[in-house]
Amino acid sequence: MTVTTRTDGTQLAGETLDPQDWDEVRALGHRMLDDMIDYVADIRDRPVWQPMSQATRRRFRSELPRAPTDLAEVYRDFNELVVPHATGNVHPGFMGWVHGGGTVVGMLAEMLAAGLNANLGGRDHAPIEIERQVVDWTRQLFGFPQGASGIFVTGTSMANLMAVIVARRAALGHSVRSEGIGESGRRLRAYTSKAAHGCIAKAMDVCGLGSDALRCVAVDAAHRIDVTELRAAIARDREAGLHPFLVVASAGTVDIGAIDDLAAVADLCRREGLWFHVDGAFGALAMLSPELAPKLAGIERADSIALDFHKWGQVPYDAGFLLVRDGERHRDAFASPAAYLRRETRGLAAGTQWPCDLGPDLSRGFRALKTWFTLRTFGGDALGAVIAHTCELARDLEARVLAEPELELLAPVNLNIVCFRYRADDADAINAEIVADIHESGIAAPSTTVLDGRLAIRAAIVNHRTQDTDIARLIAAVLSFGRQRAAGLTPLIEIEAPPLAL
Ligand SMILES: *Cc1c(COP(=O)(O)O)cnc(C)c1O
Repeated sequence: MTVTTRTDGTQLAGETLDPQDWDEVRALGHRMLDDMIDYVADIRDRPVWQPMSQATRRRFRSELPRAPTDLAEVYRDFNELVVPHATGNVHPGFMGWVHGGGTVVGMLAEMLAAGLNANLGGRDHAPIEIERQVVDWTRQLFGFPQGASGIFVTGTSMANLMAVIVARRAALGHSVRSEGIGESGRRLRAYTSKAAHGCIAKAMDVCGLGSDALRCVAVDAAHRIDVTELRAAIARDREAGLHPFLVVASAGTVDIGAIDDLAAVADLCRREGLWFHVDGAFGALAMLSPELAPKLAGIERADSIALDFHKWGQVPYDAGFLLVRDGERHRDAFASPAAYLRRETRGLAAGTQWPCDLGPDLSRGFRALKTWFTLRTFGGDALGAVIAHTCELARDLEARVLAEPELELLAPVNLNIVCFRYRADDADAINAEIVADIHESGIAAPSTTVLDGRLAIRAAIVNHRTQDTDIARLIAAVLSFGRQRAAGLTPLIEIEAPPLAL
């Protein structure tokens, strides 16, 4: 500690937060890195997930610490309390919801990004160039023109919200930004399918248009938006004096991975003069796979696309992304001048295009780095092959379900999601129990959804580590727990996840 003596004789302690002993922190840091690499390398030896005991949970309750604790001790707590009770999505048996598996490359890039502690709101520095490069790669992937813009955000929920705001600004003009939506007198209406993600309705709510201003159009047997119905809904609203402005199509619905007929929606939007947004949260990156990309035909005509690199892209959380065809319109929705954000012609404040002009955030982390490392280290082809492989595994799971008389397939398999269940009386309750049993057993982690009023076991295969042995284990577990539950038995489950190596 440095002690400075003030002119009045009092002393000022000039203590920084840097370590007193750099060698000690270096040794501990190396161990953390080794432990975490081992964790990922040996992930198969662990249960996918493990519930927390009350005793463990109680250890998270305490007063705000005012005194220091040794880094080694805090790390020990992380080891004992956090690691054994993590979400589980690093594990190849995790098939719940739509979670990416992450990679060691992404993990290392996160560490580098934290070391640089870059703020990507704006200014003239290389981290911004990295983000621009990833934006340009994404632009190329979707065949968008040079003037397109893009930005990293938390996730697709935020990207969809921002797309609604860009479309709203495009529909109502500049005054909506100062006067709000009430003044224009226009009652905007947006359209999506009944199978769309709930964050679209939430986006309409949050941006002040109201979730009722979103029309949820019927879907066909394959869960794609019914384009005839969509056209009729738009016509009805126009007749009623309302103002249609936006269609949100899904490229991979969250329930079963259905892809709307994007070319037909693009045609309709062009004819009707509507903003065409695609929620491609996980599905859009199927563009990386030459065999899957044709399923997305029409996405290249979208006005905007929301997607997540943290799902099929295997980039560690979080790495959501919004791509907008017309960068000017994107900026028109968010850019606002401020004296303290003045752009200069030279120095650190140089550069006219700053990411803070493209969204609500000013301070922003360096999400682009882990994505840049992932795309460069593996290359788009390998990522596309991983994506195609998860779809093959889903077809394998589908075949196993169809071959097993005790199981029932509940939806067509489009991409990487399989919805099925154990046949039983009171099947909804029994399948909910089966899924919880499988979670608690640590064998796998599927999730559930409800399709046509029936509870389904939903396996979304996203993780690049998942193999056919994991699919076999899932099926075996469903059958075993299903038989026990159907016979009125409660399965005996005992597991214990180890902490990291100590
Ligand atoms: C995951 C998902 C979302 C939400 O994305 P987040 O990254 O979780 O915010 C939206 N739409 C679809 C289709 C999704 O799969």
